[in-house]
Amino acid sequence: MNDAARTGPALWSAQAHMPSVLGRQIVVTRGEGNYVHTTDGRRLFDGTAGLWHANIGHGRAEMAEAAAEQMARLETYHVFGRYLNDRAVELAERVRDLSPVADSKVILNSGGSDAVDVALKLARRYWQLLGRTEKTVILSRDLSYHGLHAYGTSVAGIDVNREGYGTESLVADTARFDTRDIEKVRRTVAGIGPERIAAIVAEPIQGTGGVIPPEPGYLEGLQRIADENDILLVLDEVITGFGRTGHWFATERYGLRPHIIAMAKGISSGYSAVGGAVVAPEVWEPFYESGGPVYRHGTTYSGHATSAAVALKNLEIIEREGLIGRVRELEGVLSAELGSISSDPRIAETRVAGFLGGIELRPEYPAERVADEMLEQGWIARPLRGNVVQVSPPFTTTDDEVRGIVAAAVSALDVVAPVDL
Ligand code: PLP
Repeated sequence: MNDAARTGPALWSAQAHMPSVLGRQIVVTRGEGNYVHTTDGRRLFDGTAGLWHANIGHGRAEMAEAAAEQMARLETYHVFGRYLNDRAVELAERVRDLSPVADSKVILNSGGSDAVDVALKLARRYWQLLGRTEKTVILSRDLSYHGLHAYGTSVAGIDVNREGYGTESLVADTARFDTRDIEKVRRTVAGIGPERIAAIVAEPIQGTGGVIPPEPGYLEGLQRIADENDILLVLDEVITGFGRTGHWFATERYGLRPHIIAMAKGISSGYSAVGGAVVAPEVWEPFYESGGPVYRHGTTYSGHATSAAVALKNLEIIEREGLIGRVRELEGVLSAELGSISSDPRIAETRVAGFLGGIELRPEYPAERVADEMLEQGWIARPLRGNVVQVSPPFTTTDDEVRGIVAAAVSALDVVAPVDL
Protein backbone atom coordinates (compact mmCIF):
# COMPACT_ATOMS: atom_id res chain seq x y z
CA MET A 1 0.00 0.00 0.00
CA ASN A 2 1.09 3.53 -0.74
CA ASP A 3 2.82 4.85 2.43
CA ALA A 4 1.47 8.38 2.20
CA ALA A 5 -2.05 6.96 1.94
CA ARG A 6 -1.59 4.64 4.93
CA THR A 7 -0.10 7.26 7.24
CA GLY A 8 -2.29 10.15 6.03
CA PRO A 9 -5.56 11.21 7.68
CA ALA A 10 -8.22 8.55 8.26
CA LEU A 11 -10.70 11.13 6.95
CA TRP A 12 -11.39 10.39 3.28
CA SER A 13 -12.51 13.58 1.54
CA ALA A 14 -15.18 12.30 -0.79
CA GLN A 15 -14.85 15.29 -3.09
CA ALA A 16 -11.07 15.33 -3.56
CA HIS A 17 -8.62 13.55 -5.83
CA MET A 18 -6.76 11.84 -3.02
CA PRO A 19 -3.44 11.19 -4.83
CA SER A 20 -3.16 14.91 -5.65
CA VAL A 21 -4.06 16.29 -2.23
CA LEU A 22 -2.28 13.85 0.08
CA GLY A 23 0.55 15.58 1.88
CA ARG A 24 -0.75 19.06 1.03
CA GLN A 25 -4.13 19.11 2.78
CA ILE A 26 -4.98 22.24 4.72
CA VAL A 27 -6.47 21.62 8.15
CA VAL A 28 -8.60 24.50 9.40
CA THR A 29 -8.91 24.82 13.15
CA ARG A 30 -10.50 28.16 13.85
CA GLY A 31 -12.65 30.76 12.15
CA GLU A 32 -12.71 34.46 12.93
CA GLY A 33 -14.85 36.78 10.84
CA ASN A 34 -13.71 36.61 7.23
CA TYR A 35 -10.59 34.58 8.09
CA VAL A 36 -9.75 31.00 8.99
CA HIS A 37 -6.69 29.68 10.83
CA THR A 38 -4.87 26.46 9.97
CA THR A 39 -2.77 23.88 11.86
CA ASP A 40 0.39 25.23 10.24
CA GLY A 41 -0.22 28.63 11.77
CA ARG A 42 -1.58 30.49 8.78
CA ARG A 43 -4.44 32.99 8.74
CA LEU A 44 -6.29 32.92 5.42
CA PHE A 45 -8.92 35.25 3.98
CA ASP A 46 -11.96 33.13 3.12
CA GLY A 47 -12.58 34.43 -0.38
CA THR A 48 -15.17 31.78 -1.15
CA ALA A 49 -17.09 31.84 2.16
CA GLY A 50 -16.17 28.14 2.36
CA LEU A 51 -18.49 26.59 -0.18
CA TRP A 52 -20.62 29.73 -0.55
CA HIS A 53 -22.03 29.11 2.90
CA ALA A 54 -20.22 31.26 5.50
CA ASN A 55 -22.26 34.36 4.73
CA ILE A 56 -22.15 36.03 8.16
CA GLY A 57 -18.48 35.13 8.66
CA HIS A 58 -16.91 32.59 10.99
CA GLY A 59 -16.70 32.08 14.72
CA ARG A 60 -19.55 34.22 16.04
CA ALA A 61 -20.05 33.63 19.76
CA GLU A 62 -23.73 34.57 19.49
CA MET A 63 -24.30 31.60 17.17
CA ALA A 64 -22.57 29.23 19.59
CA GLU A 65 -24.75 30.54 22.39
CA ALA A 66 -27.90 29.93 20.35
CA ALA A 67 -26.83 26.32 19.80
CA ALA A 68 -25.89 25.77 23.44
CA GLU A 69 -29.15 27.23 24.75
CA GLN A 70 -31.19 25.08 22.42
CA MET A 71 -29.27 21.90 23.18
CA ALA A 72 -29.64 22.45 26.91
CA ARG A 73 -33.42 22.77 26.49
CA LEU A 74 -34.08 20.24 23.69
CA GLU A 75 -31.45 18.99 21.27
CA THR A 76 -34.17 17.94 18.87
CA TYR A 77 -37.38 16.06 18.48
CA HIS A 78 -38.43 14.45 15.23
CA VAL A 79 -41.19 15.74 12.96
CA PHE A 80 -42.79 12.43 11.93
CA GLY A 81 -46.50 11.77 12.26
CA ARG A 82 -48.17 14.02 14.86
CA TYR A 83 -44.86 15.27 16.30
CA LEU A 84 -43.18 18.62 15.70
CA ASN A 85 -40.69 20.68 17.67
CA ASP A 86 -41.18 24.37 18.40
CA ARG A 87 -37.94 25.52 16.74
CA ALA A 88 -38.68 23.79 13.43
CA VAL A 89 -42.16 25.33 13.48
CA GLU A 90 -40.65 28.76 14.10
CA LEU A 91 -38.00 28.45 11.38
CA ALA A 92 -40.55 27.29 8.81
CA GLU A 93 -42.73 30.32 9.61
CA ARG A 94 -39.76 32.65 9.31
CA VAL A 95 -38.76 31.19 5.94
CA ARG A 96 -42.35 31.31 4.70
CA ASP A 97 -42.55 34.99 5.65
CA LEU A 98 -39.21 35.83 4.01
CA SER A 99 -39.82 33.82 0.87
CA PRO A 100 -41.36 35.36 -2.24
CA VAL A 101 -43.79 32.43 -2.62
CA ALA A 102 -47.15 33.43 -1.12
CA ASP A 103 -48.80 30.99 1.32
CA SER A 104 -45.96 28.52 0.96
CA LYS A 105 -45.25 25.50 3.14
CA VAL A 106 -41.68 24.73 4.13
CA ILE A 107 -40.02 21.32 4.35
CA LEU A 108 -36.85 21.32 6.49
CA ASN A 109 -34.03 18.90 6.03
CA SER A 110 -30.29 18.57 6.35
CA GLY A 111 -28.53 20.35 3.46
CA GLY A 112 -28.50 21.28 -0.20
CA SER A 113 -28.31 17.85 -1.80
CA ASP A 114 -31.12 16.73 0.44
CA ALA A 115 -33.10 19.86 -0.51
CA VAL A 116 -32.77 18.93 -4.18
CA ASP A 117 -34.02 15.40 -3.46
CA VAL A 118 -36.96 16.90 -1.55
CA ALA A 119 -37.80 19.24 -4.42
CA LEU A 120 -37.46 16.86 -7.35
CA LYS A 121 -39.08 13.84 -5.74
CA LEU A 122 -41.93 16.15 -4.82
CA ALA A 123 -42.26 17.44 -8.38
CA ARG A 124 -42.65 13.89 -9.71
CA ARG A 125 -44.90 12.79 -6.83
CA TYR A 126 -47.17 15.77 -7.52
CA TRP A 127 -47.89 14.79 -11.12
CA GLN A 128 -48.40 11.14 -10.15
CA LEU A 129 -50.94 12.31 -7.61
CA LEU A 130 -52.78 14.32 -10.24
CA GLY A 131 -52.95 11.26 -12.48
CA ARG A 132 -50.47 12.69 -15.00
CA THR A 133 -48.29 9.62 -14.69
CA GLU A 134 -46.44 10.25 -17.93
CA LYS A 135 -44.92 13.42 -16.48
CA THR A 136 -41.62 12.07 -15.15
CA VAL A 137 -38.82 13.85 -17.01
CA ILE A 138 -36.76 16.41 -15.10
CA LEU A 139 -35.11 18.99 -17.33
CA SER A 140 -31.91 20.62 -16.09
CA ARG A 141 -29.32 22.98 -17.53
CA ASP A 142 -25.97 22.13 -19.03
CA LEU A 143 -23.23 22.84 -16.45
CA SER A 144 -25.73 22.80 -13.59
CA TYR A 145 -24.82 21.51 -10.13
CA HIS A 146 -27.51 20.26 -7.79
CA GLY A 147 -25.52 18.43 -5.12
CA LEU A 148 -24.54 14.80 -5.02
CA HIS A 149 -27.46 12.90 -3.57
CA ALA A 150 -29.28 10.64 -5.99
CA TYR A 151 -31.50 13.22 -7.72
CA GLY A 152 -28.85 15.90 -7.89
CA THR A 153 -26.35 13.43 -9.31
CA SER A 154 -28.87 12.32 -11.93
CA VAL A 155 -30.02 15.68 -13.15
CA ALA A 156 -26.91 17.80 -12.91
CA GLY A 157 -25.17 18.93 -16.06
CA ILE A 158 -21.63 18.16 -14.89
CA ASP A 159 -20.94 14.71 -16.29
CA VAL A 160 -17.94 13.74 -14.14
CA ASN A 161 -20.20 13.63 -11.09
CA ARG A 162 -22.04 10.69 -12.69
CA GLU A 163 -18.92 8.83 -13.78
CA GLY A 164 -18.71 5.25 -12.61
CA TYR A 165 -22.27 4.77 -11.40
CA GLY A 166 -23.08 2.59 -14.36
CA THR A 167 -26.06 4.54 -15.58
CA GLU A 168 -26.66 7.96 -17.03
CA SER A 169 -29.33 8.62 -14.43
CA LEU A 170 -29.73 7.08 -10.99
CA VAL A 171 -33.33 7.97 -10.40
CA ALA A 172 -35.11 10.18 -12.86
CA ASP A 173 -35.64 10.44 -16.59
CA THR A 174 -33.55 13.47 -17.29
CA ALA A 175 -32.59 15.71 -20.15
CA ARG A 176 -30.39 18.75 -20.21
CA PHE A 177 -30.95 22.06 -21.91
CA ASP A 178 -28.87 24.96 -23.06
CA THR A 179 -27.52 27.36 -20.47
CA ARG A 180 -27.90 30.60 -22.36
CA ASP A 181 -30.24 30.30 -25.33
CA ILE A 182 -33.95 30.19 -24.49
CA GLU A 183 -34.96 29.23 -28.03
CA LYS A 184 -32.90 26.04 -27.71
CA VAL A 185 -34.72 25.31 -24.46
CA ARG A 186 -38.06 25.63 -26.29
CA ARG A 187 -36.87 23.18 -28.93
CA THR A 188 -35.71 20.70 -26.26
CA VAL A 189 -39.11 20.88 -24.54
CA ALA A 190 -40.94 20.39 -27.84
CA GLY A 191 -38.65 17.48 -28.74
CA ILE A 192 -39.34 15.60 -25.51
CA GLY A 193 -42.98 16.59 -25.40
CA PRO A 194 -44.18 18.83 -22.55
CA GLU A 195 -46.72 16.18 -21.55
CA ARG A 196 -43.75 14.06 -20.37
CA ILE A 197 -41.95 16.80 -18.42
CA ALA A 198 -42.51 17.07 -14.66
CA ALA A 199 -40.18 19.95 -13.89
CA ILE A 200 -37.52 22.32 -15.07
CA VAL A 201 -34.81 22.81 -12.45
CA ALA A 202 -32.28 25.64 -12.56
CA GLU A 203 -29.87 27.58 -10.41
CA PRO A 204 -30.75 31.26 -10.98
CA ILE A 205 -27.01 31.95 -11.18
CA GLN A 206 -24.91 28.90 -11.98
CA GLY A 207 -22.28 28.50 -9.30
CA THR A 208 -20.12 25.40 -9.57
CA GLY A 209 -20.48 25.47 -13.37
CA GLY A 210 -18.31 28.61 -13.34
CA VAL A 211 -20.33 31.56 -11.92
CA ILE A 212 -22.64 32.09 -14.87
CA PRO A 213 -25.28 34.79 -14.37
CA PRO A 214 -28.40 34.44 -16.52
CA GLU A 215 -28.57 36.20 -19.88
CA PRO A 216 -31.18 39.00 -19.76
CA GLY A 217 -34.63 37.46 -20.19
CA TYR A 218 -33.41 33.85 -19.89
CA LEU A 219 -34.95 33.00 -16.52
CA GLU A 220 -38.14 34.84 -17.44
CA GLY A 221 -38.17 32.67 -20.57
CA LEU A 222 -37.91 29.52 -18.45
CA GLN A 223 -40.82 30.77 -16.37
CA ARG A 224 -42.92 31.27 -19.52
CA ILE A 225 -42.04 27.84 -20.89
CA ALA A 226 -42.99 26.25 -17.56
CA ASP A 227 -46.28 28.19 -17.29
CA GLU A 228 -47.34 27.59 -20.87
CA ASN A 229 -46.66 23.85 -20.74
CA ASP A 230 -47.85 22.74 -17.31
CA ILE A 231 -44.32 22.16 -16.10
CA LEU A 232 -43.21 22.90 -12.54
CA LEU A 233 -40.40 25.45 -12.17
CA VAL A 234 -37.97 24.40 -9.44
CA LEU A 235 -35.29 26.94 -8.54
CA ASP A 236 -32.19 25.69 -6.80
CA GLU A 237 -31.39 28.63 -4.52
CA VAL A 238 -28.93 26.66 -2.40
CA ILE A 239 -26.25 29.28 -3.15
CA THR A 240 -28.41 32.29 -3.98
CA GLY A 241 -30.95 32.01 -1.14
CA PHE A 242 -30.72 34.23 1.96
CA GLY A 243 -28.98 37.24 0.58
CA ARG A 244 -26.16 36.46 -1.83
CA THR A 245 -27.85 38.31 -4.69
CA GLY A 246 -28.79 41.35 -2.61
CA HIS A 247 -32.30 39.97 -2.03
CA TRP A 248 -33.51 37.30 0.34
CA PHE A 249 -33.98 35.10 -2.74
CA ALA A 250 -32.80 35.43 -6.36
CA THR A 251 -36.43 34.69 -7.23
CA GLU A 252 -37.14 38.33 -6.30
CA ARG A 253 -34.15 39.72 -8.15
CA TYR A 254 -35.39 38.16 -11.39
CA GLY A 255 -39.14 38.51 -10.73
CA LEU A 256 -39.88 34.77 -10.92
CA ARG A 257 -42.72 32.59 -9.62
CA PRO A 258 -41.23 29.16 -8.89
CA HIS A 259 -43.39 26.27 -7.69
CA ILE A 260 -40.59 24.97 -5.46
CA ILE A 261 -37.40 26.59 -4.14
CA ALA A 262 -34.55 24.39 -2.83
CA MET A 263 -32.50 26.12 -0.14
CA ALA A 264 -29.61 25.39 2.28
CA LYS A 265 -26.19 26.98 2.94
CA GLY A 266 -27.10 30.64 3.70
CA ILE A 267 -30.12 29.70 5.82
CA SER A 268 -27.69 28.95 8.66
CA SER A 269 -24.46 30.37 7.17
CA GLY A 270 -23.05 26.91 7.78
CA TYR A 271 -23.37 27.03 11.57
CA SER A 272 -25.73 24.07 11.39
CA ALA A 273 -26.60 21.47 8.77
CA VAL A 274 -29.97 22.58 7.45
CA GLY A 275 -31.72 22.88 4.12
CA GLY A 276 -35.13 22.28 2.67
CA ALA A 277 -37.73 23.44 0.24
CA VAL A 278 -40.29 26.23 -0.04
CA VAL A 279 -43.40 24.81 -1.72
CA ALA A 280 -46.15 26.81 -3.46
CA PRO A 281 -49.82 26.12 -2.61
CA GLU A 282 -50.53 24.55 -5.98
CA VAL A 283 -48.07 21.79 -5.10
CA TRP A 284 -48.74 21.29 -1.38
CA GLU A 285 -52.54 21.49 -1.48
CA PRO A 286 -53.18 17.98 -2.88
CA PHE A 287 -51.11 16.53 0.00
CA TYR A 288 -53.22 18.36 2.58
CA GLU A 289 -56.61 17.23 1.23
CA SER A 290 -58.40 14.37 2.91
CA GLY A 291 -57.43 11.24 1.05
CA GLY A 292 -54.12 12.82 0.02
CA PRO A 293 -50.93 10.77 0.50
CA VAL A 294 -47.97 11.14 2.82
CA TYR A 295 -45.15 12.84 0.92
CA ARG A 296 -42.50 10.49 2.44
CA HIS A 297 -39.22 12.29 2.51
CA GLY A 298 -38.74 12.44 6.27
CA THR A 299 -35.42 11.71 7.95
CA THR A 300 -34.41 11.62 11.60
CA TYR A 301 -32.94 15.10 11.31
CA SER A 302 -35.75 16.75 9.31
CA GLY A 303 -36.52 19.94 11.21
CA HIS A 304 -33.63 19.36 13.66
CA ALA A 305 -34.32 21.71 16.57
CA THR A 306 -30.74 22.85 17.23
CA SER A 307 -30.09 23.32 13.52
CA ALA A 308 -33.28 25.39 13.35
CA ALA A 309 -32.39 27.52 16.40
CA VAL A 310 -29.02 28.30 14.84
CA ALA A 311 -30.61 29.15 11.48
CA LEU A 312 -33.07 31.50 13.22
CA LYS A 313 -30.19 33.33 14.91
CA ASN A 314 -28.39 33.60 11.56
CA LEU A 315 -31.46 35.15 9.90
CA GLU A 316 -31.78 37.57 12.82
CA ILE A 317 -28.15 38.64 12.36
CA ILE A 318 -28.54 39.12 8.58
CA GLU A 319 -31.52 41.39 9.24
CA ARG A 320 -30.12 43.23 12.26
CA GLU A 321 -26.79 44.03 10.54
CA GLY A 322 -28.40 44.98 7.23
CA LEU A 323 -26.25 42.42 5.41
CA ILE A 324 -28.51 42.15 2.37
CA GLY A 325 -28.15 45.87 1.71
CA ARG A 326 -24.42 45.43 2.26
CA VAL A 327 -24.35 42.70 -0.44
CA ARG A 328 -25.74 45.24 -2.93
CA GLU A 329 -22.86 47.59 -2.09
CA LEU A 330 -20.36 44.73 -2.31
CA GLU A 331 -21.71 43.77 -5.73
CA GLY A 332 -20.83 47.29 -6.88
CA VAL A 333 -17.32 47.12 -5.43
CA LEU A 334 -16.64 43.65 -6.87
CA SER A 335 -18.01 44.67 -10.29
CA ALA A 336 -15.76 47.71 -10.37
CA GLU A 337 -12.69 45.73 -9.31
CA LEU A 338 -13.26 42.85 -11.73
CA GLY A 339 -14.17 45.33 -14.48
CA SER A 340 -10.83 47.04 -13.97
CA ILE A 341 -8.87 43.81 -14.66
CA SER A 342 -11.07 42.37 -17.41
CA SER A 343 -8.91 43.77 -20.22
CA ASP A 344 -5.86 41.90 -18.88
CA PRO A 345 -4.82 39.67 -21.81
CA ARG A 346 -4.53 36.66 -19.48
CA ILE A 347 -8.20 36.98 -18.56
CA ALA A 348 -10.96 35.76 -20.88
CA GLU A 349 -13.92 37.24 -19.03
CA THR A 350 -15.02 38.42 -15.59
CA ARG A 351 -18.57 37.86 -14.33
CA VAL A 352 -20.47 39.20 -11.34
CA ALA A 353 -24.04 38.82 -10.07
CA GLY A 354 -24.79 39.73 -6.48
CA PHE A 355 -21.74 38.97 -4.38
CA LEU A 356 -20.70 36.12 -6.66
CA GLY A 357 -17.76 36.73 -8.90
CA GLY A 358 -15.86 34.61 -11.40
CA ILE A 359 -12.62 35.33 -13.24
CA GLU A 360 -12.41 33.16 -16.35
CA LEU A 361 -8.78 32.78 -17.35
CA ARG A 362 -7.38 32.02 -20.76
CA PRO A 363 -6.57 28.30 -21.01
CA GLU A 364 -2.78 28.85 -20.79
CA TYR A 365 -3.29 30.05 -17.18
CA PRO A 366 -4.83 27.15 -15.21
CA ALA A 367 -7.26 28.40 -12.56
CA GLU A 368 -6.08 25.69 -10.21
CA ARG A 369 -2.51 27.01 -10.23
CA VAL A 370 -3.68 30.59 -9.83
CA ALA A 371 -5.83 29.61 -6.82
CA ASP A 372 -2.85 27.71 -5.33
CA GLU A 373 -0.67 30.80 -5.69
CA MET A 374 -3.36 33.01 -4.15
CA LEU A 375 -3.41 30.61 -1.21
CA GLU A 376 0.34 31.05 -0.82
CA GLN A 377 -0.35 34.77 -0.50
CA GLY A 378 -3.05 34.21 2.14
CA TRP A 379 -6.22 34.38 0.02
CA ILE A 380 -8.55 31.42 -0.44
CA ALA A 381 -10.12 31.30 -3.92
CA ARG A 382 -11.46 28.20 -5.67
CA PRO A 383 -10.94 26.93 -9.19
CA LEU A 384 -14.26 26.14 -10.85
CA ARG A 385 -15.19 24.46 -14.10
CA GLY A 386 -14.39 26.44 -17.23
CA ASN A 387 -11.01 27.63 -15.88
CA VAL A 388 -12.69 30.10 -13.54
CA VAL A 389 -11.45 31.48 -10.22
CA GLN A 390 -14.32 31.96 -7.80
CA VAL A 391 -14.53 35.09 -5.64
CA SER A 392 -17.47 35.18 -3.25
CA PRO A 393 -16.46 36.02 0.31
CA PRO A 394 -18.72 36.51 3.36
CA PHE A 395 -21.20 39.41 3.42
CA THR A 396 -19.10 40.99 6.20
CA THR A 397 -16.18 41.59 3.81
CA THR A 398 -14.76 45.11 3.69
CA ASP A 399 -14.25 47.06 0.46
CA ASP A 400 -10.48 46.81 1.05
CA GLU A 401 -10.68 43.04 1.31
CA VAL A 402 -12.51 42.90 -2.04
CA ARG A 403 -9.74 45.02 -3.57
CA GLY A 404 -7.16 42.81 -1.86
CA ILE A 405 -8.45 39.52 -3.23
CA VAL A 406 -8.78 40.85 -6.79
CA ALA A 407 -5.24 42.26 -6.59
CA ALA A 408 -4.08 38.87 -5.28
CA ALA A 409 -5.56 37.18 -8.35
CA VAL A 410 -3.54 39.48 -10.61
CA SER A 411 -0.32 39.04 -8.64
CA ALA A 412 -0.87 35.24 -8.67
CA LEU A 413 -1.19 35.44 -12.46
CA ASP A 414 2.14 37.28 -12.51
CA VAL A 415 3.75 34.34 -10.70
CA VAL A 416 2.07 31.52 -12.62
CA ALA A 417 3.90 30.91 -15.85
CA PRO A 418 1.71 30.18 -18.85
CA VAL A 419 1.46 26.50 -19.78
CA ASP A 420 1.91 25.25 -23.34
CA LEU A 421 -1.31 23.85 -24.68
N1 PLP B 1 -27.34 22.96 -5.22
C1 PLP B 1 -26.44 23.91 -5.52
C2 PLP B 1 -26.78 24.97 -6.50
C3 PLP B 1 -25.19 23.90 -4.89
O1 PLP B 1 -24.26 24.81 -5.21
C4 PLP B 1 -24.92 22.90 -3.93
C5 PLP B 1 -23.60 22.87 -3.23
O2 PLP B 1 -22.68 23.56 -3.60
C6 PLP B 1 -25.90 21.95 -3.66
C7 PLP B 1 -27.10 22.01 -4.31
C8 PLP B 1 -25.63 20.85 -2.68
O3 PLP B 1 -25.58 21.33 -1.39
P1 PLP B 1 -24.86 20.49 -0.24
O4 PLP B 1 -23.42 20.43 -0.59
O5 PLP B 1 -25.18 21.25 1.01
O6 PLP B 1 -25.48 19.14 -0.21
